[in-house]
Order: sequence, then structure tokens, then C-alpha cells
Amino acid sequence: MNDKTWRAARLSRLGSSIFAEVAEWKREAVLAGTDVIDLSIGSPDLPPSESVRRALGEAAQRADAYGYPGSRGSAAFLEQAAEWLAFRFGIRIDPGDELVSLMGSQDGLGHLALALCDPGDIALVPDPGYPVYMAGLALAGVEPHPMPLRAENGFLPDLDAIPEAVWKRAKFMLLNFPSNPVSAVAGLEFFAKAVEAAKRHGVLIVHDLAYSELAFDGYRPPSILQVDGAKETAVEFHSLSKSFNMAGCRIGFLAGNRTAVAALRELKANIDYGVFLPVQEAAVTALKEDMAGAGVKAASVYERRRDVFLEALAAEGWRVKRPKATMFVWAPLPPMRWEQDIPWDSRRISREMLSRSGVAVVPGDAFGAEGEGYVRIALVEREERLLEAAGRIGRFIRGE
Ligand SMILES: *Cc1c(COP(=O)(O)O)cnc(C)c1O
Repeated sequence: MNDKTWRAARLSRLGSSIFAEVAEWKREAVLAGTDVIDLSIGSPDLPPSESVRRALGEAAQRADAYGYPGSRGSAAFLEQAAEWLAFRFGIRIDPGDELVSLMGSQDGLGHLALALCDPGDIALVPDPGYPVYMAGLALAGVEPHPMPLRAENGFLPDLDAIPEAVWKRAKFMLLNFPSNPVSAVAGLEFFAKAVEAAKRHGVLIVHDLAYSELAFDGYRPPSILQVDGAKETAVEFHSLSKSFNMAGCRIGFLAGNRTAVAALRELKANIDYGVFLPVQEAAVTALKEDMAGAGVKAASVYERRRDVFLEALAAEGWRVKRPKATMFVWAPLPPMRWEQDIPWDSRRISREMLSRSGVAVVPGDAFGAEGEGYVRIALVEREERLLEAAGRIGRFIRGE
């Protein structure tokens, strides 16, 4: 006999177990016959445009579409991505050396530390932050240094609070604006400051811009690559998942510093053989359509949902600031009117809200210790369902 197990210890360090817990609460609620309104997962509930679906279908019919596509990305896709970046942000990216296609940006976010770091290196990560950031570090044996995102700083990390010794050992810094889960935005002034500090310390900035097209009230999120000289020290992840409702039709890209792009491309060339060509064709159509001012207008749908939901929630006694972007509401805990003798932390609120009202949200601490005191609500249901959710949450807050 021996004590081998077919499960690496590393898996236990991959991420928060709270997501598994929330999934279990949902399962229990469904089994109990509850009509669950699931606002916990950030998966778009809308389809891509008809022409994107048609491009995918037509490409999939072609007999020559089934070879290995290659991990760099097709010339057509890379050139279109570079053109879109120029159109959208006014930045010049060389499709040959400064771009690589990804099976969704998550593919790149999960593998980047393996491509850039050695065990024992440090990476700076936002807390709270998107879970794959920590998972990627755990896979590569890289030590995370959390950067707290706090309301009093507008949810921007305090770059001056990072110790000099950490700057020295850090290989890269993850930023994500507009952010998941905190729904905060950052301007070019902050990006310029980050670029300057990163350059001084030889740190690569990795900016996750998954929500570039999901902003409201006319706001247009900038690219960090708009900062002069940013390419010397920064790369940026782009995703078609949220912008064009293509989450299941996996495609994204990394743009920017050519050394970092080449490292990720080299790693991926040993793991995968690129994105299915019809998916790249569909992405070309989505980007072209966007440049022509057509295609899905995902932002306006989420903007209306945000307004309808938060107004209804305020009427129930829970006032939350309207986010400028993303599909998430990052809500400080509601004013609970019952059983106040036991502290209502984010875990207890989320659990009780689901079992008593059937509305599923994610407790803030699932995204890092700094997330305590908040819950994340995803606006991924139709307006009628969101109104229904707000009403149920109101009754839950009042203990009815
Ligand atoms: C949804 C999301 C992504 C997108 O991941 P894909 O793999 O491109 O679908 C990336 N970053 C954040 C913060 C997200 O919320």
C-alpha cells in the first residue's frame, strides 16, 4: 500500500472554495423547490449578433476549417484586432509581434505567470480581484502580494503603499479597470502613474480590459496602452466574451510588450494549437461590425438593468451607488432589520438571502479578504426578473 493520491496539493491553492459553496447553496435551494434568481455568475445571458453567428456557421461548414489553427492566431484575426485597437483607442499595435490570440482571456490570465515567472517571484494582485489571477499565480508557484482596493481610494490600489522590497522582487502587477468584482474605473492619469512606477522597478503591468465595451452614461474606458511608452512595460488582455456576448465562443487576445507577448505565445505553443478558425472568423466579424457602428449593444442593456434594479433596490431600503461600467453591482451589505445580535457578514447574508428569498449573489470575501462587507450582484437576468429579485431582497432585509 502507499499513500499516493491522484490529486495535486496545488489544486487546493487554486481558488476560493466559496464559489463551490455558493453552487452548493444553489443546489440545495433548487432541490427545496425554490425559484432561484441566479445573480451570482457573470455569464452574459444574451447572444452574439446574428452576423457573428452566421460567420461562425459559414466558416464551420468549410471543409478546410478543421486543421490545427496555430497558437499565434490567424493573420486575419490578428490584423483585425490591431485595427480595432487603433479604431477604439488610437493605439498602434504590430499584429506580428505585439499580439497573440487566446482561447478567451482567461487562457492567458491563467498561463501568464507560468510564462513570465519562476517559483518564488512575486506578483502584485488586486484584492478583491478576479479569481483566475490568484489561480494563475498558484499554478506557477508565484507569491501574491495583495493590493487592497478600498472605497476611500475610489477602489484604486495605493501604489505608494507598496514596499520597496516588494517592488524589487515583483515581476508583474495585475490591474483590471473597469473591474470585476468592484466595478470601479480608472483614468489615464492613474495608468500613467502606474506605468511610471512599473518602469522604475522593471515590473510588467498586466491590464485586464475585459469590460472595455461595457460602460455606461457615455463613459469610454481607456486602454493603458494609450499612455506614452506604455508598451515598454505593459500588456493588456482583451476579451470578446462580454463586449460581444461570445463567452462560450472562446476568444480573446493579449496586446502590448513584445517580450511578454512572445513568452506567452511560446508557452502556449507547447500546450494548445490555437483558437478554432471559425471562432476567429466570428471574432473578425464582431470587431468589424463594431467598427461600423453596428452589432450588439451590450452596454445599453446592462445600463438599463442597472438603473431598473438599483432604483427598485433603493425603494426597498438598500441604496447602492450606480457603477459606471461592468455587469456587476458591488454592494455594501444592506441594513438588516432582524437578528442583528449575530453579525451579518457577507457570507451569512448571501447564504440566508439565497435560502429565504431564492436570490443568489456572491459574498465579497470570495474575491479576497478585502471583499468582506460587500456582495457582488451580477445583472444577468431580464428586467422583470431583476425587479422580482429586488422585491424579494427587500422582504429579506426586513425579515418578512
Ligand atoms: C469575464 C472576465 C474575463 C473574460 O474571460 P474570457 O476568458 O475572455 O471569457 C476576464 N477578466 C475578467 C475580470 C472578467 O470578469
